[in-house]
This record gives sequence, structure tokens and C-alpha cells, in this order.
Amino acid sequence: MAPPPTLEGSALRARVARSSSVQEPRILEAFEQVPRAAFLPPNLVSRAYEDQALPIGLGQTISQPSMIALMLDALDCQPRHRVLEVGSGSGYVLALLSHLGCDVFGIERQAELAARARETLRRIGVTDVVVQEGDGTLGLPAHAPYDRILVSAGAAAIPDPLVAQLREGGRLVMPVGGADSQILVTCERDDKGTLHYRAGSSCVFVPLISDSTPPPPLP
Ligand code: SAH
Repeated sequence: MAPPPTLEGSALRARVARSSSVQEPRILEAFEQVPRAAFLPPNLVSRAYEDQALPIGLGQTISQPSMIALMLDALDCQPRHRVLEVGSGSGYVLALLSHLGCDVFGIERQAELAARARETLRRIGVTDVVVQEGDGTLGLPAHAPYDRILVSAGAAAIPDPLVAQLREGGRLVMPVGGADSQILVTCERDDKGTLHYRAGSSCVFVPLISDSTPPPPLP
């Protein structure tokens, strides 16, 4: 059985329910139960339950709870779904996905953040999540295909390898657009392999940086 919610957890649940359209109890309960403070540097712990993106070092941020709620709602993940998060940063979204009963894989390009996320997840007792260091624009082929893929950084287009690693009937959610603002796009792959796209709310995410430079153009 889930432990009783903390006062801070209940307050965050209420803030997320107020500032987003998300009312799905399973998602709101995950915000109530997962201690966001554990994923923040010590000087920001007092702000952990504000509905704000906050810096986690190395130029990156832990995403805003109400925005994560919108992404989780669009993702519609069910227990035992195999889920990949690209740009797992602090590991907070990985913990929320694990709380939703998914089999969770994270990929993060900054080794220090990946190591810190592993340590935080271990400390709060989330032991069934894989956090891999690497370039997530290539996906994480070792554990593919995925029922769901969540990209927590923005880019001009959805990288092809991610779509290729989506199971038939699977769904991908990603901020797509320019550097200053993006649209939350949901991409669904039907049983015939056809892709269907839907545009959601506007959002602002840190950039998805590709480390695999394309080959130079031919002279
Ligand atoms: N869900 C995370 C969001 C972190 S911000 C959280 O709430 O903590 C987005 C993350 O994407 C950053 O940590 C950044 O380092 C990472 N990132 C950017 N480009 C990436 C890439 N190509 N592959 C993997 N991670 C990437």
C-alpha cells in the first residue's frame, strides 16, 4: 500500500490539478507520492513543491510539474508499459513513471546527471529503473521497442530512431519547435505502422542536443 501523502506532496497535487487540465487520479497521486525535493540541489529544496521549473546544475532544469502532468496525460501510459524517457535529467519523471507501474528506461547525455539520478532513485527506493548515459536522439535500441517514449527536451523535429523504436500501437510525446518555444506533439504509430500526429499546448523546454554529428556534405 502507498505510504500516507506528506503535506508537501498533497500541496503539489493540488497545484498541479489547479494549473493544468489534468484530473487523472493516477497521475495526480504520483505527484503526491514522489518526493520532488530529493531531486533538487540542497539550496532549492524549500522550493521543491512550487509549480516551477528549477535549475539542477549543468545548465539544465527539472521540468515544471504541471507541464510534466500534461506530458504524462498525453502519453497515457498503463502499468507494465515499457517507457523510455529521453533527457531524464534529475530522474524525477522516471520516478513518476515508475510510480505509474511502468517498466522505465531513461537516457541522459550528461554523465554527471545520469549518475546523480541513479543515486537519487536508489536513495528514495526506486530500484527498478535503468538510467543510461548517452545521446538519446539515437534512442536506446538495447531495450526497444517501447510502448511509450517521452522526450523531455525540445527540437525542430522528432528524431527518426525514436519513431523506429516505437512499438506498433505505441505513442511518443515531444516538444517540437524552435529554441524559444515549442508545441507538445503526440505521435502515434497504428497497427499498420502509419504515424498520426496531434498538436497540444505550447511549452518551453531546454534543447535536445545531438552528439552524433551528421556526415559532412559531399564536395
Ligand atoms: N525530466 C527531466 C528534464 C531535464 S531537462 C527532469 O525533470 O529533471 C532535459 C534534459 O535533457 C537535460 O538533462 C539534458 O542534459 C538532456 N538532454 C539534452 N539532449 C539530450 C540528448 N540528445 N540525449 C539525452 N539527453 C539529452
